[in-house]
Amino acid sequence: MVKNKVAIIFTGGTISMKVDPRIHAAIPALTSEEIIGMVTNIEKFSQIEIINYANVPSPHINPTMMMEIAMLVKKTVAREDITGVIVTHGTDTLEETAFLLDLIIRTEKPIVVVGAMRNGSELGYDGSSNLSAALCTAISPKAKNKGVLVVMNNEVNAASEVTKTNTLSLDTFKSPEFGPLGIVDNDEVIFYRDIISHQFLDTENIEKKVGLIKSVPGMESDIMDFYIDAEYKGIVIEALGRGNLPPEMLPGIKKAISKDIPIVMVSRCPTGRVLDTYGYEGGGKNLRELGVIFGGNLPGQKVRIKLMLALGITKDIDTIKEIIEYNVL
Ligand code: ASP
Repeated sequence: MVKNKVAIIFTGGTISMKVDPRIHAAIPALTSEEIIGMVTNIEKFSQIEIINYANVPSPHINPTMMMEIAMLVKKTVAREDITGVIVTHGTDTLEETAFLLDLIIRTEKPIVVVGAMRNGSELGYDGSSNLSAALCTAISPKAKNKGVLVVMNNEVNAASEVTKTNTLSLDTFKSPEFGPLGIVDNDEVIFYRDIISHQFLDTENIEKKVGLIKSVPGMESDIMDFYIDAEYKGIVIEALGRGNLPPEMLPGIKKAISKDIPIVMVSRCPTGRVLDTYGYEGGGKNLRELGVIFGGNLPGQKVRIKLMLALGITKDIDTIKEIIEYNVL
């Protein structure tokens, strides 16, 4: 019998779906055993332990559930008999759960998050090939100390860098800034590069009331007022270009900051970090002077996870700033 033992935590998503003939649309339907049964020769590679967390589409996964999944992964990966852990997940919010796991779990063992773009009723279901690539990664000593990995379409990406880039393509998970860490080829994982630093946040708490705003020309402060009045504890803004905002948003920004609500800014551009390059009203320099925190090159939905975790640790703005700006400024 093979010595490896991999725990697969099932949470749902298209990898667990089939088309319901009554409504002609995909819904959760496949069991964990059925999914594993489609991965040919799996028993030659590893013993498998199935852990059923849920069978839900990923738009139903909320931050409380993300934290529950993280606690389950943390407990499972710490077991001596476990070589690595795989989490199956819907692809819509996969990057958020994967990033949360990456930020709060400290282990040298591989943790791999995987999903599928085609459900079990479609021609060319990619769940089994993605799961087999995830398994090859989870059992590989080369995948140790790499942080949480996202494996889809035979590509290995870092959870800290990856994002879903296409609504349909099997090749949807990309690290647009730096490219993949490696590939899975011939049942083996091959790494081409490493990530230089790995941020660890020691928390089991998450603040749920964190909003996300995408800025547009002419945007005013009313949206900021909404979040402030609704007692949101933090706000992420996807700003324009290098990190600039319409001046009409400044009253709202000032009001939030005066109430100690951290404002974290990233760019609505798909790549590149924000910086205090511009000195005009609403420019990055002006925003920085007002106390806006710079979130580097992360997409808004990922820096929101970081801010939610930071707010789970502290309400102190300077400490939150240090956490968010770690390695980006
Ligand atoms: N809507 C699905 C989900 O995120 C998409 C997928 O899994 O690919 O659950």
